[in-house]
Amino acid sequence: MLEVTGIGARYGHIPALHGVSLAVAAGEAVGIVGHNGMGKTTLLKTLMGYLPLTSGAIRFDGREIGREPTHRRARLGLAYVPQGREIFPFLSVAENLRMGRAGTGLDEIVADFPALAPLLRRQGGALSGGQQQILAIARCMTTRPKCILLDEPTEGIQPSIVEEIAALLARLRAQRNLALVVVEQRLEFVAGLAGRVLVMQKGSIVKEMPAADLADRAAIEDIVGMGG
Ligand code: ATP
Repeated sequence: MLEVTGIGARYGHIPALHGVSLAVAAGEAVGIVGHNGMGKTTLLKTLMGYLPLTSGAIRFDGREIGREPTHRRARLGLAYVPQGREIFPFLSVAENLRMGRAGTGLDEIVADFPALAPLLRRQGGALSGGQQQILAIARCMTTRPKCILLDEPTEGIQPSIVEEIAALLARLRAQRNLALVVVEQRLEFVAGLAGRVLVMQKGSIVKEMPAADLADRAAIEDIVGMGG
């Protein structure tokens, strides 16, 4: 579904990605972990086209998209849930969903995300962090994506809702054969969702391991820096 080969990206003159390669199959969930500032967000932004490639190629669903603008990548079925969720705080939940909508009816989306049904008239900014995250995921599903890039979906969210989000993503993956690329600091969340995990260090992928290995915190503390 997604095949990334040797991609580079930079901020001004400062390189931030150094030849990153990875592949994600349809219906597969892959985790990306690493210390702060190692390039995880930059990788997702580059895949989505918010940062230009300086080298390499991105194939998505059989097409080269590395030089396509973001909206075209979105139309082809790549979706992005940014860090911090970036919902529209002064719009209602229903309006937030309409902003993302590209062919999917509101009823259809609410049927898929029943937790949002009682909240449709509520202002986005008045929702809890977890509700905002569910809204951000629902918003991105309005484009009927084949692959979603999620940047720290559990950041600042209370544990009970973290489980709800994990179950939601697992259900979407199973029902829609959706591919997921999940940047995440909560290792147990990644371990429950993904099959494989890629470790980023200084703009490169330095290691790949089965997600089950995340249970061995001591072994990964050095690489990931969050064993505690
Ligand atoms: P975090 O977990 O803190 O979000 P990250 O692994 O996602 O970290 P990035 O945000 O991708 O890391 O940052 C990678 C590098 O690029 C860091 O050195 C960072 O300072 C730099 N960087 C990120 N955004 C910008 C920007 N807009 N302008 C210049 N440099 C940036």
